[in-house]
Amino acid sequence: MATNNLTIALAGNPNSGKTTIFNNITGARQHVGNYSGVTVEKREGFRRFRGRNFQVVDLPGTYSLTARALDELVARNAILNDRPDILVNILDASNLERNLYLAVQLLELEQPMVVALNMADVAEKMGHKIDDQALTRRLGVPVVRTVGNRNRGTEDLLATVAGVAQERKQQPFTMDYGPEIEAKIKEVWSVLKGVAPEKYPLRWLAIKMLENDKEVIDLVAAFPGGERVRSVAENARKKLQGLFGEELEVVFAERRYYFVGEVYRDVVSVNNEISQTTSDKVDRVLTNRVLGLPIFLGIMWLLFNLVFTIGAYPQEWIENGAKWLGDFVSLYLTDGDLKSLVVDGIIGGVGMVVSFLPQILLLFLGIALLEDTGYMARAAFVMDRIMKSVGLHGKSFIPLLVGFGCNIPAIMGARTLENPRDRMVTILVAPLMSCSARLPVYTLLTAAFFSESYAGTVMFSIYILGIVLAVIMAWIFRKFLFPGETEPFAMEMPAYHIPTLRSILTHMWERGSLYLKKAGTIILAASILVWFFVSYPADVSYSKDFEQLKAASDAAYNANVNDGEADEHEAEIAKLDKEQAAEKLAGSYAGQFGHLIEPLIKPLGFDWKIGVSLFTGFSAKEIVVSTMGTLYSVGAAEDDTAELQESLTTDPALSPLVAYVLMVFSLIYTPCIATMAVVRRETNSWKWMSFSVLYSVALAWIVSFGVYRIGMFLGY
Ligand code: GDP
Ligand code: MG
Repeated sequence: MATNNLTIALAGNPNSGKTTIFNNITGARQHVGNYSGVTVEKREGFRRFRGRNFQVVDLPGTYSLTARALDELVARNAILNDRPDILVNILDASNLERNLYLAVQLLELEQPMVVALNMADVAEKMGHKIDDQALTRRLGVPVVRTVGNRNRGTEDLLATVAGVAQERKQQPFTMDYGPEIEAKIKEVWSVLKGVAPEKYPLRWLAIKMLENDKEVIDLVAAFPGGERVRSVAENARKKLQGLFGEELEVVFAERRYYFVGEVYRDVVSVNNEISQTTSDKVDRVLTNRVLGLPIFLGIMWLLFNLVFTIGAYPQEWIENGAKWLGDFVSLYLTDGDLKSLVVDGIIGGVGMVVSFLPQILLLFLGIALLEDTGYMARAAFVMDRIMKSVGLHGKSFIPLLVGFGCNIPAIMGARTLENPRDRMVTILVAPLMSCSARLPVYTLLTAAFFSESYAGTVMFSIYILGIVLAVIMAWIFRKFLFPGETEPFAMEMPAYHIPTLRSILTHMWERGSLYLKKAGTIILAASILVWFFVSYPADVSYSKDFEQLKAASDAAYNANVNDGEADEHEAEIAKLDKEQAAEKLAGSYAGQFGHLIEPLIKPLGFDWKIGVSLFTGFSAKEIVVSTMGTLYSVGAAEDDTAELQESLTTDPALSPLVAYVLMVFSLIYTPCIATMAVVRRETNSWKWMSFSVLYSVALAWIVSFGVYRIGMFLGY
């Protein structure tokens, strides 16, 4: 290893504090990319420490290193192929036994390693006393205590890492799997030697081959002479399997658990009086059989009301800003296409979308709070009973919850599911989770058509509808497309934390800037396109000669100028302008297209304008709002929400019922192009992507139709 440049990889369980420590080490000097070929996030950073350059990678959080879950595969390949100089294994000291299970597997990769005992504060509060020296003795690696969220122990950790790099001595670690297995490991190992290139940990390869790890078997078989190793390993595996009467992978896992249990008991002593923590008491309420679900629903309801009421204030400021900007720009541009493009198309469309930034930020604040406090895992536990009854795994609930923020990480989050059927079903229903991009549609429509006291409840009902539909569709998919057993729920509850301001702010900032970036790129482009399609063709044939009517009105007014009927005259001109604008719009390309598809959506109570808005919404849901902004504002001076709301409420084609149906439709149909792309990538199939799009549009139509008819029947 080059003496001055060190590569460090942080590995550990999800929620062990990896990212926190990563941030402590690297500060602002980091960037987020992707692992090559896959879409797992790769966070890299840089730190200069005592004359050395540390290049730090935050690996995906995992509980194990099998080839079955994508995150695990990515993490282990990053170690295996990139060979970081030092591995830092972050352990959650308050959950040490489970965390050690990964530690043991990391050690088998034969990479110099340092253990960070993080969450030392939580462990202490729980009455767990950990003997660092005993741990060092058992694992053969240095142990450093850290408290990530208070940035304690970071320097110590770096100094230890630097020390290990200096020594370059790696104590060999071997976990004894028992005489029968050890004999076979040796057998495979001896044929592997000389076949596998030097950089690979031979014992680990042998173990994985015996575990029937397809990735490793293929890797080895591809080496010259690898085929022979494969057949030796295969024979050895079959023999052992006959001996144990069980899948070897299970036997290996059991041995590891046993070993880890031993180490744990050796290292940790628990003070039983304290270990009945407040956390346990809180859990008893939050995950209670009866109370759990109402509490969860209550928290969600509160969150959406909060987002709606608090978010309205800054939203108004941004709108006023956009309006001012529009007026300001108008001063410098003469009437005509350019002015219309800039004021109606760009400032109107993009401004409309940007004005929802406060609500988006608040929503992510809520999600970050739920995640960081540890409540999310409880919610998953509470939901597991319901999830199981529809054949989904409780673990799916976390990606699905994340879907309220954005469907893309939700779909990618399905990677953590080991069972491919669970994965597919989760990917297919995740878009039914109402992501934040759909929020502007709801906000706009609820504010326009429902009184303030109902607004929160109306929105809440849409979110709940999404969940209910997801549950129903999951059940259907599971029953007809992907039949089979569900895996049992095994997920540890992370300890409760007071989230750090920094982690919350980072989260909000990342999301907020993504949203703004989207507004500045896709939505800007879409706004311009939409503007073009509603403004052209310029020479629409009108039902009356508006210019002449206006001139006549002017003339009549000027002739009787003393009568003081200025207001009346202005109203008449405005009415003519509005009529003319409406006819122009109806004759535009967008209008023509809208009329073309109108028969398809007429049964839902939608007119062609809504058709156009929904169509543009395929690219992204915010664009439904910006399109409506442009559709209802071209020709008039409306480019803020209040005025858009007014022109919506005065539009005869819209009613509270139609607005609600429109929200329902927006909830259900394909969220955006990016989601489609991710579905394609994650399922690796155009077929499933098309299926995802088609079923969601069909479902949107059917449910909207149902809601519309029932609403009509009830007399709305
Ligand atoms: P990751 O999933 O491993 O990247 O975990 P994060 O870095 O996101 O941390 C999860 C949560 O644990 C965050 O809310 C952190 O603020 C919190 N956290 C991290 N380290 C500690 C610690 O040492 N003590 C306590 N009490 N909380 C911590
Ligand atoms: Mg993390």
